[in-house]
Formats: sequence, C-alpha cells, structure tokens
Amino acid sequence: MNIEKIRSDFPQLNKRVNNHPLVYLDNAATTLKPKVMIDAIANYYAHDVANVHRGIHTLSETGTRHFEETRIVVQKLINAQNPVEIIYTKGATESLNLLAQCFGKQFLKTGDEILISLMEHHSNIVPWQMIAETTGAKVIVAPIDDRGDIDQVAYKKLLNNKTKIVSITHISNTLGTVNPIKEMIKDAHAVGAKFCVDAAQSIAHMAVDVQDLDCDFLVFSAHKVFGPNSVGFLYGKESILNEMPPYQGGGAMISEVTFEKTTYNILPNKFEAGTPAIAEVIAFKSAIDYMNSIGLSEIAKREHELLSYATDEIKKIKGIRIIGEAREKSGVLSFLLEGAHPQDLGTILDKEGVAIRTGHHCTQPLLKRFNCTALARASFAFYNTKEEIDIFIKALNKACDLLL
Ligand code: PMP
Repeated sequence: MNIEKIRSDFPQLNKRVNNHPLVYLDNAATTLKPKVMIDAIANYYAHDVANVHRGIHTLSETGTRHFEETRIVVQKLINAQNPVEIIYTKGATESLNLLAQCFGKQFLKTGDEILISLMEHHSNIVPWQMIAETTGAKVIVAPIDDRGDIDQVAYKKLLNNKTKIVSITHISNTLGTVNPIKEMIKDAHAVGAKFCVDAAQSIAHMAVDVQDLDCDFLVFSAHKVFGPNSVGFLYGKESILNEMPPYQGGGAMISEVTFEKTTYNILPNKFEAGTPAIAEVIAFKSAIDYMNSIGLSEIAKREHELLSYATDEIKKIKGIRIIGEAREKSGVLSFLLEGAHPQDLGTILDKEGVAIRTGHHCTQPLLKRFNCTALARASFAFYNTKEEIDIFIKALNKACDLLL
C-alpha cells in the first residue's frame, strides 16, 4: 500500500485544525472523501444535470445509465444475485425504517418477536420499536458479555417460532465487535426467521458477500464508505422484497395511477419514490471503484495493524479503560480515562488537531450495560498512520497532565 499516494488522494488530509495537521480518527462517524468522488459530484452539477428515469433527451438517458451503473457496482460489491435487489435510500437509517415499516406491515402481528442485540445503534432499535407498537409485536434483546461479544447461548435460546425477524449489526460502531453473523443467520433461519445485517460499519472495512452469508436483508450508508451523504442501500432477497408493500408514495414508484386504484412499479422502483440524490448516487461509484482499487483485504489488514498498535499504546496510559475487547474487532477503539470526562478529552485532543468522537455514539442502552453515559472513541481507516496514532497518544498524555 503506497500510503503517501493514498493520503494525497484525500484533500481533507491536508487540512490544519487549530494550527495542527488534522489527525482524523472519527472514521466510524463518517469517512473522508477521495478526490475522484468529489470530482464526480462537481462534474454532474457542472455538466450533466438532468433528472433520471423521466426523459428521453440525451442528458436524462446518460444520467439514468450512470445512476443505474452504481446499482450494478453495489450489487457486485456485496455479491447480490440481481441488481433489482439493491434499493437506493437516504442512508442506513432510512433503509432500516423502510424495512421495519414494509416488512412489519406484511409479516408482523400481535405476539410476534423481533430480535435485536444490546449493542445496536439507535437506528436499529427505534424503527423496530415503532413498528412493534403498531403491530403488537415485541422487541426482544440478546445480551452481550463483558468483553462486548453477543452471548451466543442466550441468542440461540431467544430464537423461537415467534421470531419473525432478527436485525443485528455486523460490526458495532461503539465496541468494534465483529459479530459471527454467518452462524447467527443460520440459527435464525432454523426457526424460520428472516435476518437483516446492519453493515453500516463493515462495508468499508471487510469483504461482505450476501449470498455467502445468506442474509435476507442488509443495509449501509455511502458516507461511511468514502462516498457522499444522503445515499444508502437496502439489499433484500428479491422474493421477499416482492412480497413487501411500498414505503413512500410518489413519482417513480407507480405503474399506473387512477383515482380509483393505483398500481405499483416493479423492483427496485417500487421502493424509490421521488427524485433521488442523483449526483451522489452517481459519484458513489467512483468511491467504490477507488476502494476496490486498494482492495478490501489490504484495507482490513492495515486497519487491523493500526488497531493493535493503538490498543498497545493506549494501554500504557495509567487509568485507561478500554470498552470493547471482543474476540474479533475492527478498527474501533472506545475508552474511558478514570477521573476525566470524555467530553473534556475530546476538547483537549481537538486543540491538538486530533478528531475523535465523544458521547453515547447512538448506543445508549449499550453504554448503560457498561455503566457509563459517554465514551471517547478513536476509529481508523486505511489512510491513517502509526505516526497519527503517536500524535493521538501524545495528546491523550497531555490531557492526563491537564485533567488529572
Ligand atoms: N448502524 C450503525 C452500526 C451505525 O454506525 C450507523 C451510523 N453511526 C447507523 C446504523 C446509521 O447510519 P446513518 O446515520 O448513516 O443512517
């Protein structure tokens, strides 16, 4: 991996913050963007503006072709069988809301169970609570152990013939835990439940193959995969998506509208009402091409090295408590410093140009499990370096001197 060349592909890495070179360690919140992706957005707005699926003029046809090319690239990225199984949304959050509403209306009734885990992001909790309230289904929560692994014995026990859907994160945004989802999917299928993988934290960091996993649904956001905001994806097996009712009504999702009865479009348009984020969808292809040119196995290897190095270094600081020491982890390092509030740590690090995340990370129930209300989190991407981790550790030591 030519790290200097890679870093030069990300303009924001040249930025200075508070008179220091930016050390961006908040990649689990959102990743930085390669220039090829930024150029693709600018190019659309400078030269190629047109709506998609609506016109026969040249620009509309070209735009539609590019817009649909991204679907094929995403299909290949996750190895879906058919591009119609890829639904464009605004992000992982909208994908989960769409799924909860549309799956719930068709398949959930009083007494049914929706199984999630204690480490879920609020986006994979609240939409299920909302549909549970309207259908009479119940949300059941699989516990986790002190290291931050889902208790697999408890998980298996909670699965039963009332479980209609399981929705669990592939990688925890707070703990970095990589869940053994392939086995968990098999267990869910054994009781006849469908399985949704929240891949918001995995797509940019490891190869994901929906056919190999045999998941029924999978969601993620483009902005966590070096792409733009306001674009996300719902993968669903074609046969199940066909059985689900549409999400929102409007343009593009219809087949025929009359005041007596409206019929709906086929997949994927059935779930894609209105004008989408065209420039952003088109530009996301450049981000995926860029990521693929580096290679997901190389990315996973490098991030693993960064995580081990950072973990070893941070453990040398007195009073550090790492939250999340699962058997398998990706590049997320959450921690507490005894006697210091994470917010204060974040502020001091920011003065040194180091961007980390502090707060509850949209996982309040998980933080409660670890008896805290806020955490500090450093999260890595392949463009980070050991030198940046050294700066982060130095800044943390400075925070210790100031606060303790
Ligand atoms: N799930 C997980 C595990 C996440 O980390 C996030 C974003 N932090 C989401 C869901 C929601 O993603 P978005 O805000 O992009 O919709």
